[in-house]
Amino acid sequence: MRVLGIETSCDETGIALYDTKQGLLAHALYSQIKLHATYGGVVPELASRDHIQRILPLIDQVLAQAKLKPQAIDGIAYTAGPGLIGALMVGAMCARTLAFALQVPVLGVHHMEGHLLAPQLEVNPPAFPFVALLVSGGHTQLIEVRGIGKYQLLGESLDDAAGEAFDKTAKMLGLGYPGGPKIAACAAEGNADRFRFPRPMLDRPGLDFSFSGLKTHTLTLTRQLAAERALQPQDIADIAAGFQQAVVDTLVAKCKRALKATGLKSLVIAGGVSANQSLRTRLQASLAGMGAQVKYARPEFCTDNGAMIAYAGACRLQAGQSDDLETPLRPRWPLTELPPL
Ligand code: ATP
Ligand code: MG
Ligand code: FE
Repeated sequence: MRVLGIETSCDETGIALYDTKQGLLAHALYSQIKLHATYGGVVPELASRDHIQRILPLIDQVLAQAKLKPQAIDGIAYTAGPGLIGALMVGAMCARTLAFALQVPVLGVHHMEGHLLAPQLEVNPPAFPFVALLVSGGHTQLIEVRGIGKYQLLGESLDDAAGEAFDKTAKMLGLGYPGGPKIAACAAEGNADRFRFPRPMLDRPGLDFSFSGLKTHTLTLTRQLAAERALQPQDIADIAAGFQQAVVDTLVAKCKRALKATGLKSLVIAGGVSANQSLRTRLQASLAGMGAQVKYARPEFCTDNGAMIAYAGACRLQAGQSDDLETPLRPRWPLTELPPL
């Protein structure tokens, strides 16, 4: 079955073609980063309008890459939530119109299930069951995964998501958007031990997270330093390194706790922050010590993309699931409400 995947939940238009026999055939992404840069964050109405302009040319581009005609599509998957309602509507309307014209089934996919399953697109994919750490711009969750749609929430952030903490801290340090890659690059030049950042909620039992305190800590720290003298590039690098280490330490400790609590030996990390090299390296080393392993997607499939939506959609469409043309979109949508495959 050949499935066209359409991702438009936020500020990237992602399109892909996935074949359940041959794997990923083609994919393309258009990121609106430049469009929103002047505003310091995503402007929802601008995002929707830009998706409208990009979506059809990108679909043409992906079909051309795969050397296929629209008639070769057997099913269509689009992101139905969570996300910005206007942005979701563009992808959904395009998917439904195409599906109606081609007379093929269409299915709304959960954006976080897409992230969660993205590592399945790699060689040597993770086998169920596993513990998943979803770390993205809007989510930080630990989930016990028994199969597709069999999700149990183990813990989550009580305030900011990890990616959000990277973005807000980067903004404070004048590093720009998106903050994750900027902080990571800056931290590589810094000394993580110069400033001691707190390790939020590590002293308490449980699997929940809290990241908003790190942002406040950065603000206090930069103000203190700036009161003495102008911040130097080395100061900023040292702060970035200290911040990143605190986030990574916290994520690693909670992942280990989740593996112990469930008795599982396999961890999957997904979402934009799972592209972070320091997180990957530290998890690998520290899980090896307990006989467990970690898997993740290639960096371009950690952040938003069409391939993960095409894949998640293909799994469900192939199992016979589909939507009608009136199924409502879900700007908020708990992952645990999904039906099992
Ligand atoms: P959600 O998936 O929760 O709806 P989103 O789609 O905006 O949110 P993603 O696209 O999965 O989030 O990821 C974007 C986030 O990942 C941003 O917060 C970005 O700063 C962060 N990120 C990207 N690369 C890195 C990196 N190398 N290190 C740390 N964070 C990163
Ligand atoms: Mg984005
Ligand atoms: Fe995302």
